[in-house]
Amino acid sequence: MRFTTKNLEETKLVANHFITTISSTEGAATVVGLYGDLGAGKTSFVQGIAEVLGIEDSVVSPTFVIEKIYELGEQKVYEVKKFDHLIHIDAYRLEKSDELLHLGWKEIISDPKNLILIEWPERVGDIMPEHIKITFKHISENSREIEIPTDESKTVKIDF
Ligand code: ADP
Ligand code: MG
Repeated sequence: MRFTTKNLEETKLVANHFITTISSTEGAATVVGLYGDLGAGKTSFVQGIAEVLGIEDSVVSPTFVIEKIYELGEQKVYEVKKFDHLIHIDAYRLEKSDELLHLGWKEIISDPKNLILIEWPERVGDIMPEHIKITFKHISENSREIEIPTDESKTVKIDF
């Protein structure tokens, strides 16, 4: 499903919608790869998800720290808590996949209570597990295209 957003808030609404469509998987973390150029809206999308999951700390780009782990408390969006942690990774500055392995990648991807959102997953493509791929495109100054794989049987309409 493809969305065209006209501003930052609309991108966050798409993120809010997306988070309601995913469920945790048995035996592995839920991993979401965020593809797209610098400024395409990947970090903004993560901020939208963080807000809806009740993360109060401000979510800033983990470009320099690579990985940020947020503890999830009670969530407004789900009746049943699906995840214990939101893990936000920015692989942009990584030169080798090894660097992510050193941050405990194997452990974090095997915990079904983790929701992992990773920017620039193509940089560590060789160690990415099966994941949901979301693509962001810069259309004009304030417009972005977001492509999310969806179950075709569901029709979705977001009222911006
Ligand atoms: P990335 O993480 O992909 O590099 P960011 O989310 O950090 O991108 O930055 C996106 C920038 O574009 C922000 O400064 C944001 O305010 C701006 N912007 C303008 N229009 C939009 C839109 N429709 N969706 C998301 N961000 C937008
Ligand atoms: Mg970013």
